[in-house]
Amino acid sequence: MSTVDREVPRSESPQQAEATPFQERVRELLGELGEDPGRAGLLKTPERVEKSLRWLTRGYHLSVEDVIGDAVFEEEHHNMVVVRDIEMYSMCEHHMLPFFGKVHIAYIPDGKIVGLSKLPRIVEVFARRLQVQERLTEQIATAIQDVLKPQGVGVVIEAAHLCMMMRGVEKQNSKTITSAVKGVFLDDLRTREEFLRLCMVGGSMS
Ligand code: ZN
Repeated sequence: MSTVDREVPRSESPQQAEATPFQERVRELLGELGEDPGRAGLLKTPERVEKSLRWLTRGYHLSVEDVIGDAVFEEEHHNMVVVRDIEMYSMCEHHMLPFFGKVHIAYIPDGKIVGLSKLPRIVEVFARRLQVQERLTEQIATAIQDVLKPQGVGVVIEAAHLCMMMRGVEKQNSKTITSAVKGVFLDDLRTREEFLRLCMVGGSMS
């Protein structure tokens, strides 16, 4: 598609730029909440909210293939690889409020390994969307299963949900823990126990 002969107004300063439909909705929302969208402190809020929400949901435009690139290597390593305490920020799809915490990932290779820095990036692909923690956990495990075809994979997420903490009265300190296990992590009790023990070492899951 060519944009060569399309007129783009260049004279506008950012403040005068026309509000996008997204920003108009945010402005309306502010009014619905009882605010005055025209007061000084809120003038640029619709623009900021759009920018922030688009960034927080950028996972819709990311794919596992893109973030992994060519970082899969042949390797005859057959012991468990564990990456603990990967920071995770997501948003619950029921209230569009953040939930956040730690992701622990383990897998036992079957001829292929992935660059360790890629595991947090796989988390980002799925965390930066509207989510439920259960699905997020499963999607991360499935992605690693698909990319590496390992002997097994395990994913544990421990997270705090602001929709529970901010709205509830007795749930401020609760944490939600979810897990997804595949292959030998599912079939072999000792492997699964080793994984869970490694997740807990020095962590808050005790
Ligand atoms: Zn929620």
